[in-house]
Amino acid sequence: MDEIEEIKRRLDIVDLISSYLTLKKAGANYRALCPFHKEHTPSFMVSKEKQIFKCFGCSLGGDVFAFIMQMENLTFPEALKLLADKTGVKLQRRKQADLKISSVKNKLYQINLLAAKLYHKILTQHSLGKKPLVYLTAKRQLKDQTISEFMLGYAPKSWDLILKKLQEKGFSQEEIAATGLLVRKEGDGYYGVKGNTWTYYDRFRDRIIFPIFDALGNVVGFSARTIEDEKDVPKYVNSADSPIFHKSRILYGLNLAKSYIKKNGFVILVEGQMDVIGSWQARVKNIVASSGTSLTEEHLSVLKRYTQNLILALDADSAGIEATKKVIDAALLLGFSVKVTKLAGFKDPGEAAINSPSNWIEALKKSLAAIDWFFDLALTNVKDKDNLTISEKKTFAKIVLEPISKIQNPIEKAHYASQVAEILQVKEEVVSATLEKYNSQQPQPVAGAEEAKKSDLGLEEYFLGLVLAFPKFLPQVISKIQTINFNDELPSQIAKQLLTWYNINRKNLERGSFKFDLNQVFKGQLLDKVNLLIFDLEEQFQEKEDEEILQEIIQVSFRLRQSQREDLKKEYALKIAQAEKAGDRTKLKSLIAEFQNALSEKEK
Ligand SMILES: [Zn+2]
Repeated sequence: MDEIEEIKRRLDIVDLISSYLTLKKAGANYRALCPFHKEHTPSFMVSKEKQIFKCFGCSLGGDVFAFIMQMENLTFPEALKLLADKTGVKLQRRKQADLKISSVKNKLYQINLLAAKLYHKILTQHSLGKKPLVYLTAKRQLKDQTISEFMLGYAPKSWDLILKKLQEKGFSQEEIAATGLLVRKEGDGYYGVKGNTWTYYDRFRDRIIFPIFDALGNVVGFSARTIEDEKDVPKYVNSADSPIFHKSRILYGLNLAKSYIKKNGFVILVEGQMDVIGSWQARVKNIVASSGTSLTEEHLSVLKRYTQNLILALDADSAGIEATKKVIDAALLLGFSVKVTKLAGFKDPGEAAINSPSNWIEALKKSLAAIDWFFDLALTNVKDKDNLTISEKKTFAKIVLEPISKIQNPIEKAHYASQVAEILQVKEEVVSATLEKYNSQQPQPVAGAEEAKKSDLGLEEYFLGLVLAFPKFLPQVISKIQTINFNDELPSQIAKQLLTWYNINRKNLERGSFKFDLNQVFKGQLLDKVNLLIFDLEEQFQEKEDEEILQEIIQVSFRLRQSQREDLKKEYALKIAQAEKAGDRTKLKSLIAEFQNALSEKEK
């Protein structure tokens, strides 16, 4: 069997897409927010029966390969390799050789994985790893199991350990450097090794290593921290961005957390790797962190594929509070429902989760809705909450009014406005008027601007799609298909194939033993395209009555023939005009006869 077919047979598209998005059942199909364009109402559909996806917002669609190429930004050979590995399908050697050349990314994954395993082995099994291991287990109280789940490692004090080990495995310095594991040497520095021949040296030395995985579990980069805080030495060093590592997008822990996010229906967002690891050990596993950068809108967009419910648990210091404000802002605009966790008595979630798992779980349960968190923040330093001083009132208003002005739901907004009025001891109208001012300062979203262009089928595709989506009408409409000349490529292929099949099976059809199976009429790529087309139309017509659908098919066939008559007229008008101009009367006569003939052909 063909490798591609075999992969498709083994891999259910619903399972594949579920590992990226939360799919909701919708009739026979599944629905989700489209990962490929911004939207608030889901128009991304997956058909288990047809094994395809289709977005009715941005028109992207296709099979498992099309999905993974789009999602992971892969070429077809890369997607083939990835899904072959995932399903255990062996690719022919020739193809594998092609892949080796074509896939730089795969090589980077390979190198990173080898490095991660080596660092992990040094930490857990080598005498060089003893000190960092004691630090992690005794001081940070991590269990062995946690250390291996996150594949934590140790990079010893060496300029060329990883360089040598990976060169031994057959990789060149340049290949290893492309992962960001090495740093280019300046001049002919000898770095403690006389006469060394390196162009590069190890980036991570005497540091604890946190491998960073993408959602599929590939090692894409590393974060490395010092064991003890040293003066003038950065606590964390990260891999540089590479073709496989984009700090603004990658979320630490997502590969492990994604199934828990879906199960729990929300995600906890934290700032550091140790927060994720600590929480994981406390059995709160639907948690991710940004890595080596502050949280970006891109991070949030990635999370939006899994859930719309976000709990923020950033550090308790003033930087953490500022960051919380920013993330709330961005998350609300993206349509998240946001809560914020207050860490009582701990500086960060990692510390809280390790020292007191029950406190951590309790704090999460008590998370405040974003606006309530602003109220809480605004009242932190107030002496008498029932009687604010003038300056306290000003500070309070400054903190809470802007976020309230951004609330979309009018009832919710009015609720908070009246709370503000009560705290400030002013009339509600005053608060509403102030909120109005905030609103007029904000750029209003342009209706529909973020929605992508709606899918738009050509008339020929629309007609054939309808016929095939509702094949029970085939006997009534087959004669119409025969009289139409399809001009577009896909429709003419479909019509040709359909009519061939029809002619062979005509007898059975006429005898009434009519059985239409798409898989017998179409094969290969054409079948995929037909499936996509049908999917589109089934969605549009799923709630229509039979009568209505048949009417629509017949009307469209009229419109098609009409437009073809128009084309014919134009074509002959031009020819006739030329013959007239040339004074060629015989030609003129024959053209007119030809034209009338063609027209009556169309009337049949
Ligand atoms: Zn879309």
